[in-house]
Amino acid sequence: MFATRSPLWALWASLLAVVLGAATGLPDVIRIGGLFHPADDRQEVAFRYAVERINLDRGLLPRSRLSAQIERISPQDSFHASKRVCHLLRAGVAAIFGPQSGQTASHVQSICDTMEIPHLETRWDFRLRRESCLVNLYPHPTALSRAYVDVVRAWGWKSFTIVYESNEGLVRLQELLKAHGPSEFPIAVRQLGEGSDYRPLLKQIKNSAESHIVLDCSTERIYDVLKQAQQIGMMSDYHSYLITSLDLHTVDLEEFKYGGTNITAFRLVDPEKAEVQKVVRDWMHGEMRYGRKPELAPHVLKKDNLTFIKTETALMYDAVHLFAKALHDLDSSQRIDVKPLSCDASDTWPHGYSLINYMKIVEMKGLTGVIKFDNQGFRSNFMLDVVELTRDGLQKIGTWNSTAGVNFTRTYGEAYTQIVESLQNKTFVVTTILSSPYCMRKDSSEKLSGNDQFEGYGVDLVEEISRILGFNYTFKLVPDGRYGSLNRETKEWDGMMKELLDQKADLAIADLTITYDREQAVDFTMPFMNLGISILYRKPIKQPPNLFSFLSPLSLDVWIYMATAYLGVSVLLFILARFSPYEWDNPHPCNEVPDVLENQFSLLNSLWFTIGSLMQQGSDIAPKAVSTRMVAGMWWFFTLIMISSYTANLAAFLTVERMDSPIESAEDLAKQTKIKYGALRGGSTAAFFRDSNFSTYQRMWSFMESARPSVFASSNIEGVDRVVKGKGSYAFLMESTSIEYVIERNCELTQVGGLLDSKGYGIAMPPNSPYRTAISGAVLKLQEEGKLHILKTRWWKEKRGGGSCRDDTSKSSSAANELGLANVGGVFVVLMGGMGVACVIAVCEFVWKSRKVAVEDRSTSLCSEMATELKMAMRCRGSTRPARNKKNKGSKGGSSQGGLACGGPSDNPHFVSLGHYGQYGFATKDPS
Ligand code: ASP
Repeated sequence: MFATRSPLWALWASLLAVVLGAATGLPDVIRIGGLFHPADDRQEVAFRYAVERINLDRGLLPRSRLSAQIERISPQDSFHASKRVCHLLRAGVAAIFGPQSGQTASHVQSICDTMEIPHLETRWDFRLRRESCLVNLYPHPTALSRAYVDVVRAWGWKSFTIVYESNEGLVRLQELLKAHGPSEFPIAVRQLGEGSDYRPLLKQIKNSAESHIVLDCSTERIYDVLKQAQQIGMMSDYHSYLITSLDLHTVDLEEFKYGGTNITAFRLVDPEKAEVQKVVRDWMHGEMRYGRKPELAPHVLKKDNLTFIKTETALMYDAVHLFAKALHDLDSSQRIDVKPLSCDASDTWPHGYSLINYMKIVEMKGLTGVIKFDNQGFRSNFMLDVVELTRDGLQKIGTWNSTAGVNFTRTYGEAYTQIVESLQNKTFVVTTILSSPYCMRKDSSEKLSGNDQFEGYGVDLVEEISRILGFNYTFKLVPDGRYGSLNRETKEWDGMMKELLDQKADLAIADLTITYDREQAVDFTMPFMNLGISILYRKPIKQPPNLFSFLSPLSLDVWIYMATAYLGVSVLLFILARFSPYEWDNPHPCNEVPDVLENQFSLLNSLWFTIGSLMQQGSDIAPKAVSTRMVAGMWWFFTLIMISSYTANLAAFLTVERMDSPIESAEDLAKQTKIKYGALRGGSTAAFFRDSNFSTYQRMWSFMESARPSVFASSNIEGVDRVVKGKGSYAFLMESTSIEYVIERNCELTQVGGLLDSKGYGIAMPPNSPYRTAISGAVLKLQEEGKLHILKTRWWKEKRGGGSCRDDTSKSSSAANELGLANVGGVFVVLMGGMGVACVIAVCEFVWKSRKVAVEDRSTSLCSEMATELKMAMRCRGSTRPARNKKNKGSKGGSSQGGLACGGPSDNPHFVSLGHYGQYGFATKDPS
């Protein structure tokens, strides 16, 4: 032990000695009184042993001996206590130690205050008195309370239940209640009943699904409370207990070591510390020597007495040493004598205050760590060990002190190893739901049982994880066949979520989506698959190709604009040609001074020229003037671009199949009411629409809710069935991975539109599960090794008819290259139409010419003229025929101007082919 004295107080003490000028020295025997309760003899033993040690050591009080004056009093009898104190004072004591009971202690305290006798206490006292004669070595209640707050904060407990025994407990946890404040997650406070049956209270806590418990009760009751909690199933892996007692190490926790429950507490005395062990061993030997075998309370550790040291016992030992140390320090400054005092007189002990002041400035190391008092005389600066129950008993996992707060010394790796070790040979109950391909019943002729009944992605996934972590598992189908949704009114979960919250299952492995609400209630691992909501619908029906699909490459507007441009350019060409002098030619080049000039761009020729270039064919007419060539050039440029664009687009239009799909996105669904749509009942997909703030999805949710009959399906299989049977009248909102699985097998169905959201599937476990990190790690490992990908391929594309729609797709893509008659039929129609129109025009021309000839000739009737012409046409051999009308003055060449010129290049009377005029001659207008 060492001691230091603050320089200021040292100076003060020396000054006091000089001023008093008194001789120093202590009496040979200094009596100190101890008040103890017979039931708690450990205090008495510690007191006596401390006195013996000080007397033996002689280091602190070399010339004096301490004499322990022990009085045994009943904890409730304060009258008797007062009498015993007076008795001690009459004998002459320098200090009074104890008692432990609050009732008697206050009486003892007031007597000591009156007589100015130092009173040393070692008990928790919420009243925080600052009486002048009191020195309490027990940690200050507020500081202790801060330790609980700090550890609860460090663990991040959102909600918890406080179980307390007496009102003092509530005072002890006041800081914890204050620190939590009003929050979304209220904390519950429950009192342990009078009797010894705590099960009803514990059951209530269990039903509230609370897994974080702060237990404040006397050390003697801890075992019973924990035992009963174990009996009702509240000592599982997912429960955490923070025990406020500083003496948990004195409780027999053997039965709770393997349950996996997180039991944590603080301690002031480290029973494993060599110094503490030595002290305890010595005093045990001493006790045995005197034949005083210590009586142990039930359920305290019996196997090794060394660990059996209560905080208050250690504090008593420290209190005696503190007193001796202060006495030693005071001895150097003044002469002290201890005199008998009478409770009936108004006598006081003159050294009382000095001794107390010395005690409060002394800083020494005891069994309970450094003993130091703050300026108010409280022990608020102390160090606590944070201990946790493990398979090897209570282990120190960190420390706490008022300045640094909690400091966990256990590394992440150690904690992880401990968890993985605890997983070995553990059997988890895995809740799941029948949903292809995550969990399906095996097809077998034999009757299967247990885990053998199931197969699927989820089944393989849990098998892979268990191989890594070494646990066993049994599958259990969720009784209500639901994934889990929160009832907003009752605040209760159903489905797999309920199974986890009721701790009927340890893991939920299925296509269970990680959502905010679910994450608040249970623990999820890292996602093992990513997905989003999409629409499952029947495949669009193939549209029969359009007869006039050759018109499709250009829109109707463009066709109209093109026709207008054609007419406009033709007319402009006609007008400009008439304006331009260079377009007027001599019809008879031999005649150098012609009477007439001719313009080849008549309206009909202009139209012929432009249509010829539009059809990429050209014509024998060529513009000569710059202006008309400009028109022609620009028109050719226009036709070049238009025809190229048309040709390019035509290829796409003729080869791509036209599909008739009434919906292409969720917006399309929301806009109409003809096609019904729904989702899985009680799943995250329905919850997505229910909770969405986006107007389209809100509209879709109100439609789904109000639809009668209900559009919700109780399983994905039912939903898919409805889409198939609905033949386009029902769409099912489903998760993309499940859609992918369905459309691999059912070729009539397809996914419509993209993903409406983005989320993942995770493995869920009860809240506060210690295994989350380990299982998350295993999922990541499987992902990185590519195992998850292999599993996905196996269950999506290979097993159970996977890939059956793949052939279909390839067939349809090769067939798209051939064009059928249906695709190009329109061209034939146009061709036939054109031929028909040409025939009709030919008949009209024939009739028209015959009538004209008949009128001019006057000798023949129209019918006979038509008959003659017809005969002529039918009999026509070669490409010549006799001219019928010699009187025709306009005719200069061999060919007829008016009749049918069989085989001639043109029947146009104005047609001029400059290259062939020698052969065909010229047709000119009669100037008269
Ligand atoms: N996987 C979903 C869930 O966890 C089911 C669904 O709603 O589509 O609820």
